[in-house]
Amino acid sequence: MDWTEERVETLKGLWRNGYTARQIAEKLGGVTRNAVIGKAHRLGLSSRPQPVKRQEAPLDLNRLERTCQWPIGHPGQPEFRFCGETAVPGKPYCDAHCKVAYRRASSEGSSGKNAA
Ligand SMILES: [Zn+2]
Repeated sequence: MDWTEERVETLKGLWRNGYTARQIAEKLGGVTRNAVIGKAHRLGLSSRPQPVKRQEAPLDLNRLERTCQWPIGHPGQPEFRFCGETAVPGKPYCDAHCKVAYRRASSEGSSGKNAA
């Protein structure tokens, strides 16, 4: 059995939605639960919410899509978080951070020398 791109995507999607390795193996077919676990580990999918949170996972994803993804602080620091304000439809950021993002992008685009 080959891990085609499509099957890997299916695995990733099911995994993120909280399906168990056994359920994923059944849906994919032709693989064992252990094969699914092994593949997920290689894909870096090993850390995820417990399967019991499955009902909440899609809700979380939807909420993330609608809230501002502007990083506050620095990744790796305990206080790091995302803005979380309501995002502008079709944009990853809230209104205020959209303005910051686009101003920053245009000024960097013109000089190309600004260190972040
Ligand atoms: Zn924001």
